[in-house]
Amino acid sequence: MELKNCMEEVVQDKMDIVLEQYPSCCRCEQCRSDIAALALNQLPPRYVSTRKGDVFVRVSEMTTEGEVTVIQAIAKAIEIVSKNPHHTTKS
Ligand SMILES: [Zn+2]
Repeated sequence: MELKNCMEEVVQDKMDIVLEQYPSCCRCEQCRSDIAALALNQLPPRYVSTRKGDVFVRVSEMTTEGEVTVIQAIAKAIEIVSKNPHHTTKS
């Protein structure tokens, strides 16, 4: 048995959609991890127990309201990261 935070997958999933609205935001691995971490810290975790070999955990119980909260948390995280990227911008 292992524990998995469903919220991580939801954030990864929605991040690209939210990033489309921020064309100036850096999309490198470093910034994406920073955005995910910041967003996840604002969101309640959703742990599920999975057995090894289980393919994907469905997040079907996610409500529209829950989705809005996730999107807002990602948008906030993108704004923070694009203002303070953890690396120097290559121009
Ligand atoms: Zn970057």
